[in-house]
Amino acid sequence: MTDLPMRLNAHLAAAQPSATYRMIDRVAERKAAGVAVISLSAGEPDFDTPVHVREAAIAAIHAGHTRYTQVAGLRPLREAIAAKFARENGLPTRWQDTIVCSGGKQVIYNALAATLNPGDEVIVPAPFWVSYPEMVALCGARAVTVPCTEASGFKLTPEALSNAITPRTRWLILNSPSNPTGAVYSRAELQALAEVLLRHPHVLLLSDDIYEHLTFDGECFVTMAQVEPRLAERTLTMNGVSKAYAMTGWRIGYATGPQWLLQAMEKLQGQQTSGASSISQHAALAALKGPQGFVSEVRQVFQRRRDLVVERLNRGFGLRCARPAGAFYAFASCEGLIGRSSAGGRLLRTDEDVALALLDEAQVAVMQGSAFGLGPYLRIAYAIDDASLARACDAIQTFCEGSTP
Ligand code: GLU
Repeated sequence: MTDLPMRLNAHLAAAQPSATYRMIDRVAERKAAGVAVISLSAGEPDFDTPVHVREAAIAAIHAGHTRYTQVAGLRPLREAIAAKFARENGLPTRWQDTIVCSGGKQVIYNALAATLNPGDEVIVPAPFWVSYPEMVALCGARAVTVPCTEASGFKLTPEALSNAITPRTRWLILNSPSNPTGAVYSRAELQALAEVLLRHPHVLLLSDDIYEHLTFDGECFVTMAQVEPRLAERTLTMNGVSKAYAMTGWRIGYATGPQWLLQAMEKLQGQQTSGASSISQHAALAALKGPQGFVSEVRQVFQRRRDLVVERLNRGFGLRCARPAGAFYAFASCEGLIGRSSAGGRLLRTDEDVALALLDEAQVAVMQGSAFGLGPYLRIAYAIDDASLARACDAIQTFCEGSTP
């Protein structure tokens, strides 16, 4: 056998594997080895997909809807998506102005891959979801991360945006409610960012609205294309059924945006994965057209868990956690633990050390904030039943109190 050189694509070779999936894999390995890990690491709802959605999928199989669909998605689903954007977001949308992809990730990747060239820049406010900068790098462009501090609610300010824009800026990625901080942009905050974008017509906006339905305390969700219709022509508004209807494994994301962009994304997808799973598309159709009670029930459950987790984390020695307005993540500073040693004798130099020691010594999996571009923080996904969440909080508290200088 000849030894073939293992030469990878240079962008892929330079990219990091998904930090969230690395932790998901670590948890799975430990569980397979019989360790009772409580996972607060993966960002996915713990609820079952609603029964009527599951039944629609089974009916689709029996009805023989098991073949390729159009690349951009089944027309009835695209009509339901257009109706959703009009109904919930005030975006007048034709079905032709939508696209269905295999998960929200594919929407984002397709949009970036369809538009980025070497030398292009993409503004990514930090903390960010782990995959944004890596996707940008995979497409051969440069992610320009803009630090957003806890003092600014982890949100991008108009000044910081204005300073980050250059002639090479191609996109700004906004994610509200945010993964990992749970921050939610108000109408006024979006309007202020819109004023900056209006001065820079070469910048596109990717609005990742996947946590749209998870806003708490009556906080109202708004999206940029609705707040500033003059930006709609250069905004890709993306969403999906994963978080709203507990359908992460079905892999259905969707978007609306300008025709030129949707057509480019469709061309790319047609040479890549083709249309999303036909069964999943029928399930998504049932989710979008069926009763919406599930969405508000889930919101109430998450709000209750948010209150529990924030209160409990703030009791933990060395932790400090602001109350997030949305999503299902708490983003807690663990600065007070840095430089200390865990009860198991591990020096906690970074938030990653804290996360790994928590996993090994307390059997609780969380994500280190530095994976999301801001340390020392811990991202706690409270998408888990109340009893397990309370046990995890107890274990975190014991871990923190057991640390020594
Ligand atoms: N978006 C979720 C998270 O942040 C799922 C994992 C992923 O795709 O990164 O945990």
